[in-house]
Amino acid sequence: MLRLSQGQLTLLDTCPRKFQHVVLEQLAALPSSEQQASMAWGDRFHLLMQQQQMGLPVEHLLSGDRAFQVAVRSLQTTAPQLFDAGSVVSEFVDERLLPDAPSVQRSSEHLRSFTFAGHSFSVIYDLLLTEPHQAQIIDWKTYPQPQNARWLAEHWQTRLYCYSLVQTSDYSPEQVSMTYWFVRGGHLEEKGPQGALQAGTHYQPQSLLFPYSEGQHQAVHRRLSQALERLERWLSDYAEGIPLPQVDVSQGQCDRCPFSQRCGRAGANPGSALASDWMMTDLASIDEVIP
Ligand code: SF4
Repeated sequence: MLRLSQGQLTLLDTCPRKFQHVVLEQLAALPSSEQQASMAWGDRFHLLMQQQQMGLPVEHLLSGDRAFQVAVRSLQTTAPQLFDAGSVVSEFVDERLLPDAPSVQRSSEHLRSFTFAGHSFSVIYDLLLTEPHQAQIIDWKTYPQPQNARWLAEHWQTRLYCYSLVQTSDYSPEQVSMTYWFVRGGHLEEKGPQGALQAGTHYQPQSLLFPYSEGQHQAVHRRLSQALERLERWLSDYAEGIPLPQVDVSQGQCDRCPFSQRCGRAGANPGSALASDWMMTDLASIDEVIP
């Protein structure tokens, strides 16, 4: 039995051989310094949001970083309903804007697990807001909102997170939704004339909400079944010494893959451009999927 996450399902879709390297052989590429900085920012933001939901002090996480403070303040001003009314960050917002909804239950870093076709699945919601007839899954994203929302709608994270909640609760699919909050403006990182970080005072956090439905639930079920059937075949071959399939070189993924040397694909497609969307996908996998 494998313990799988949405990130591993995404890897499997992206390139089965990459799944082999990362999941089966436990190989990992060192992130670049830029990726490390981005991951540290995201970790800090997630920790702050978790601590404020738990009523714990957050001042030490806010101090000394103006851009980070601005990002938190902007989110709290834009979406005060996401913050606990007793939050110590309330200095940032007019308390009259804070929600008066005691029936809403909040749970941060909320874990759900289920088994499917002999494999174990786990998801961790950054924040889960539940009411008797409604449940909202909230996820913090620390990269810019993608231009193409469909990409995110079809992403395994959106589908598996909603699927998991329906499978492990009494909520019907229509009572479940998932919302991504893009909390970090790109210009927060822009450098001023002296090389100092700009505070990004004009950044407005943005969100994308994806409702769920019975039809989507059935579609995810089928997609999951098909993915696991393929995986079973590949695992069976792998046990016989046959590696998992490589992605077609024409897709241009290998040039920016850390396993290109291992795969004999280094320089396989030198004309391809470095696509920021793919970099973002990889970052998302590292940041959000394999904590
Ligand atoms: S180099 Fe290409 S084939 Fe090999 S793991 Fe990376 S994307 Fe897959």
